[in-house]
Amino acid sequence: MGQDCIFCKIAAGEIPAKTCYEDEEFLAFADINPQAPVHLLVIPRRHVADVAEAAATDPALIGRIFSVIERLARERGLVPDGFRVVCNTGPQGGQTVKHLHFHILGGRFMGWPPG
Ligand code: 5GP
Ligand code: ZN
Repeated sequence: MGQDCIFCKIAAGEIPAKTCYEDEEFLAFADINPQAPVHLLVIPRRHVADVAEAAATDPALIGRIFSVIERLARERGLVPDGFRVVCNTGPQGGQTVKHLHFHILGGRFMGWPPG
């Protein structure tokens, strides 16, 4: 599991990334193709494919990862102006990397509906 997974390789330090947060369970780093002045990705170190797998195996992980997300958003100065958290899921949801990740986007106004 995760042998061909880019984010597992980043978590293992096999692919470099601009890491901005890490603890035993999670890692956050800059998106390689930023879509906003602040664009971070937060991932569990453990390979979890998507929200469905997280919900099935460890639903509390979602709460813990949101604690990290909120903390990073505050540290990056995105509070109180606001920011967007995105979790693309499955092919139609636009998920290209099949390792659970949350995008934190901020520093500009976010339009709605998304593309
Ligand atoms: P998804 O489309 O799956 O929601 O988002 C995957 C994100 O991962 C994309 O925004 C893409 O730019 C980013 N990404 C893909 N490969 C790499 C990489 O090797 N390093 C970093 N830092 N980001 C990556
Ligand atoms: Zn993985």
